[in-house]
This record gives sequence, structure tokens and C-alpha cells, in this order.
Amino acid sequence: MVLTTRYFPPHKLLLFLSGLSGRTEVDLLGKSVKNSPIYGLKIGSGVKKILIWSQMHGNETTCTRALCRLIKLIEQSESYLKNLRFLIIPQLNPDGAKAYSRFNANQIDINRDALKLSQPESKVLNKVFTEFKPDYCFNMHDQRSVFSAGDPEKAAVISFLSPAMDDAKTISDSRKESMLLIADINKLLQKKIPGQVGRYNDRYNAECFGDNFSKKGAATILFEAGHSKTDYSRSFSKDLMFLSLKKALNSIINKSFLSGLCEDYFKIPENNQKYVDVIINNATVIDQNLIYHNHQLAIQYDEVLKNKNIFLQPTYHSHGKSLKLYSHSTINLSKKLYSKEFIFKENEIVDISFFPDK
Ligand SMILES: [Zn+2]
Repeated sequence: MVLTTRYFPPHKLLLFLSGLSGRTEVDLLGKSVKNSPIYGLKIGSGVKKILIWSQMHGNETTCTRALCRLIKLIEQSESYLKNLRFLIIPQLNPDGAKAYSRFNANQIDINRDALKLSQPESKVLNKVFTEFKPDYCFNMHDQRSVFSAGDPEKAAVISFLSPAMDDAKTISDSRKESMLLIADINKLLQKKIPGQVGRYNDRYNAECFGDNFSKKGAATILFEAGHSKTDYSRSFSKDLMFLSLKKALNSIINKSFLSGLCEDYFKIPENNQKYVDVIINNATVIDQNLIYHNHQLAIQYDEVLKNKNIFLQPTYHSHGKSLKLYSHSTINLSKKLYSKEFIFKENEIVDISFFPDK
């Protein structure tokens, strides 16, 4: 399966920026390891300041695509422009975006560099935070397709976290605000995707930017666009992310979320890693010269960049009589031989017509 839209390299961002109105000021905030520009978009003149950054993990593009739509909306909304002040970094890691990689060009995860500030991209984010002094921080990501939420287990299509500010997980006034804001967004999302919103564990990690900014007093929200069924282009979660962002802005303006309860945040189920992309039922699997009949074979897709497109490459996950896993799609078949070692390397062994678009 080819995923054209999932690839959002710097030239796509440039194309988007060139279509913006004069209401958005596009600033050069700094340069990446490979000297690519990192842009900051300044919009609005309100009192409440919101810092948003996306693609700090270069291969996580769903939120960037949702942000592009949001920026267009902000430009046309007198209410947003009057009440809010935005600094948006749509692509913090342009080198990773180009290479379709989580990491920057030095193979560093920028989101583990909040204390060391060893990378130019981390320095940009830290400097912007220090100078802009945001009331709210939106930290935008994609999560892998392995996450489930709720009981019974459903795929987590959107997930959130109000990052901890210390080991004791103290709920300060600003952290409470982020929890209440998430609870408010969740109310809307439950109407669209009942039971499919997840919450990340809030174990404190000072090296992550979200935790770091939370500690420094900004109401910080981690947004994670997730996976649904066979929507590998993630247009569904992109649209939901757009709605979530819009809801967050409206709530901040009308302050309605402040009357909520932190309990409602904690009621959102924690994410579990219970999903795989595909489960093949009744498979015959060769594993280290042993043959297993009527097994479940779980397959996970790797996203591979080839010729400026993203391809899904099936990889072995696990097999067993009865896997305690759920899958986004299921294939039922019998008398098909799968070799754990070779199935995904030598296409002649697996009937790849079972996989989407092959
Ligand atoms: Zn991420």
C-alpha cells in the first residue's frame, strides 16, 4: 500500500506557507542539523498565548496536516485572532521530515533532549518557549497502530496526556487546566469515536519537552493522532485532530472547560499495546523448522520511505494458538503455509494479495 499523503517533507510545508495570507507572520526560528530552516508562524493578538509544535518526530505528520487546516481557519476567525496569540512550529524536525524518520539528522530523539539541549532543533524549541512564555503548549504527535483504549479493548484513535511536572505527579493550577481541557475535548470526541480515546501514562520524564514545559508552568497537552481500521493515510484521525484543536481553542476562549473535573480526565482509559495491524487466522506457520497448524499469525506494518512515497511493509509480530491481541484487520484462511523467517522477505512464500493494495 502506498501512502502519498503521510509523507510531509519540508517542500510540502513551503508550499503551504506560500499560500498563507498576510495575517500570518512567518519567521525563521533557526536551522536544523542539515541547515534546513525551522519556521515559526505568528498569528493573533490576544492575551492567551498558545505555543504549538508538530513533527518533532519527522515521520509523524498527521497533526501537521491537521494544523495546516487549523491555521487557515485561524486566519479567517476574528474571534481567534482577537482572543488568542499563536506561535506555531509546524515542522520542528525538517531533516527527520525529509527522511521520514522519528529522529533528527544526528539520530537523536528531540523529545529526549529537553535537558541536554544538545541539538539545534531542541535549542529552537527551548528558546521559543522561554521568549514567548506561552500559557498553553500543544505537543503534536502520531502514535503507532499498536495502541488500544478502554474495555472492551478498542483501537485508540486519539490519545492525550497532561504531562507530569515532577515525580509526585503534582496537579498544579496549570496542570489542572490541561487536564480539564483534555476532558472537555474528550466529551466531544466520545460522540464521534465512543471508547476510542486513550490516555498516556504520566510517569515523569524530565528529558521530554512536555514534562519540562509543564514543570515550567505552562498548561501542556500531548496530542497523539492514532490509527483506525485500514485508514493508513490517517485522514480520519487527521479530521478528529482538527476538531480536537478547534474545540481546545473555543474552550480556552469561553473558559467553559474550567468548570469540569480532573476525575473526568482520569476516567479516560490508559493506552495499552494490544493491537497489531493484521491477524491471519488458521495459518500454518513454520518457525525454526517446526510446523504449527491452526495458529494465529500477527503482522505489523513498517512504514518505509521509497521514491518519495511511504510503503507499508508487512513484518512478523508473533504467532500462537490464541494470541491475546486485537487487529485492525483480520484474514481468515486455511491451509496456507507461512514461514516466520522468510514470509516477509521472500514474497513468493506469502500470498501478498491478502495485504492491502498488493
Ligand atoms: Zn512522537
